[in-house]
Amino acid sequence: MQKERKIFLSESEMPEAWYNIQADLPEPLDPALHPGTLQPIGPQDLAPIFPMELIKQEVSQERWIGIPEEVRDKYLSWRPSPLIRAVELEKALDTPAKIYYKYEGASPVGSHKLNTALAQAYYNKQAGIKRLATETGAGQWGSALSMACSFFGLECMVYMVKVSYQQKPYRRSFMEVFGGSVIPSPSEMTASGRAVLAQHPDSNGSLAIAISEAVEDAAARSDTNYALGSVLNHVLLHQTVIGLEARAQLEKAGDYPDVVVACNGGGSNFGGMAFPFVADRFQGKKVRAVAVEPSACPTLTRGVFAYDFGDLAKLTPIMKMYTLGHEFMPAGIHAGGLRYHGDSPLVSALYHHKHIEARSYNQRECFESAILFARTEGIVPAPESSHAIKGAIDEALAAREEGKSRTILFTLSGNGYLDLAAYDNYLAGKLVDVPCPQSELTEGLQCLPKV
Ligand SMILES: *Cc1c(COP(=O)(O)O)cnc(C)c1O
Repeated sequence: MQKERKIFLSESEMPEAWYNIQADLPEPLDPALHPGTLQPIGPQDLAPIFPMELIKQEVSQERWIGIPEEVRDKYLSWRPSPLIRAVELEKALDTPAKIYYKYEGASPVGSHKLNTALAQAYYNKQAGIKRLATETGAGQWGSALSMACSFFGLECMVYMVKVSYQQKPYRRSFMEVFGGSVIPSPSEMTASGRAVLAQHPDSNGSLAIAISEAVEDAAARSDTNYALGSVLNHVLLHQTVIGLEARAQLEKAGDYPDVVVACNGGGSNFGGMAFPFVADRFQGKKVRAVAVEPSACPTLTRGVFAYDFGDLAKLTPIMKMYTLGHEFMPAGIHAGGLRYHGDSPLVSALYHHKHIEARSYNQRECFESAILFARTEGIVPAPESSHAIKGAIDEALAAREEGKSRTILFTLSGNGYLDLAAYDNYLAGKLVDVPCPQSELTEGLQCLPKV
């Protein structure tokens, strides 16, 4: 048994290229469709809001895509991120399993999102863009993009889901420190926002609304592009640096996972960790990948695999994905980053063809796991990441049941130091589980486009 608790890579061992799983998919992806014509989209349809390099990555079939030196340079301020053996958690669980976690909360913004934010800011800067518009749910993505824009000299406009804007004032402060402009969504700034406010003046907002506002903003200005923090193929591509590093770190430790676990909102953190291992699986390795989502927004476990819009105003391309319907309003659970109606087309297709697994948990059991993790390992996890912890703990308990060892690798996608209000609620016994009745799910699916 290896004894080191922390497994580091040197700077020179950081991956030089991202891994593009599109090159190895056994079943091809269904094309994205134009929201108006319902025909497959081409690069020119995306050009008003994305730089050409990212559009190329979106559809690339190349297995490896080099990380530009300017992006690698920025990565090196915290990457390679540590891989840590959760020795104290293993003891507390009295399990024969080995549990490793990849700590993405060590990034300067406290989550994995900076991995793609830097890449997206860089390619937009190269393309002569001056300003990026985006949405943010819980605030992690807006924080990452604000920082990345500041590094590359771009302006950043963030439409923040209103309920989070009110619940998490320090997130706004954080973004403003890096020069980002933040407004609560729905806002009066866009036609999409005004349409929602006309019908629901007290709307709490949702990611689907905020995306509409940001896309509309970007489409209306030639100096502005749009940036998305998850879901799209190029975003997952950038996140593969997580899994590539983890695989190299485990190899150093003489180990390989039986199971890889990550929480799943739009799929970038899960895909980023899992795809290099799914590639090994295509080559015959026996490794399972488990995506964990909240029971209050059960996209993979209870949604349908169908074409749907990415936003409420139907401005985005229609994508084939697991979805709860673009009008689905998830309950206000604390894992704000996991409250998206849809999912990455790549993750969705892999799940549909049974290359990966999914499960869901309620928020209270996730917070319970997060507290155990904090008290054993000494890091307060982001509420999103607590879903992965719960998933890893269940794998470790299953190993104990079987009386067999099992090597578990999970992503600690972020820290929870700006989410302590959520912990307050949990510790005060105020946090409730929110059921998601079948009738609500069935109704949410009424809005799917007929293609
Ligand atoms: C945004 C976020 C998630 C969910 O991200 P996806 O990549 O969209 O699945 C998970 N954990 C943290 C800490 C986040 O900030």
